[in-house]
Amino acid sequence: MSASGGSPLASLRRITTTRPEPVVGERCEMCAESIAEAHQHVVNLESRQLMCTCRGCYLLFTAEQAEMRYRAVPDRYLSFPDFAFGAGEWDDLQIPVGLAFLFHNSVQERIVAFYPGPAGATESELPLDAWERIRAANPRLGHLRPDVEALLLRGGDREHPDFAAHVVPIDACYELVGRLRSLWRGFDGGTEARAAIEEFFATVEARSRPAPPAPDAEVSR
Ligand SMILES: [Zn+2]
Ligand SMILES: [Zn+2]
Repeated sequence: MSASGGSPLASLRRITTTRPEPVVGERCEMCAESIAEAHQHVVNLESRQLMCTCRGCYLLFTAEQAEMRYRAVPDRYLSFPDFAFGAGEWDDLQIPVGLAFLFHNSVQERIVAFYPGPAGATESELPLDAWERIRAANPRLGHLRPDVEALLLRGGDREHPDFAAHVVPIDACYELVGRLRSLWRGFDGGTEARAAIEEFFATVEARSRPAPPAPDAEVSR
């Protein structure tokens, strides 16, 4: 900024006092450019916070192997039609509600499991061997990207005796948790929370395509 325009703070004040308040839109949390209501996100790996980003800033963090503090959340949904998972595995996860999401936290170097409720997301102590077993029985889970994608599991209740598994963007999970937090009533969430979960799963199912073959199999070809 040139010196002739006065101090940055003064010019900022001038802008804010002479212009009418802009229509409150969202802004990129990295460069402050205004962004559409539907936009992409980047995860801060240390704080686990999501940042709303413009396309340009988002693309800076799409490299998967780079040593970076931020990582772009991909926009893909995968289904696992032959998911090897049953009531025993579900019990191992120690999830008190019919829904959980698991992701690999690369800073903590472990898989963490969360479930929604009135306090937002609650972490479940996941026995390490429980994940190892699920992963071994479902080699396609090798596609799950650390930090930015979650394995969403549903089942274990009367309405949904069959388990469903999807890989979903982590921001979609945050959004669902935030929504459920305000709707949750009682032990099982109540009617409104259950309706929100149904709606969420309908969207996930519509957007999902079957997971490709296990990454190891691709390499060995
Ligand atoms: Zn930006
Ligand atoms: Zn956002």
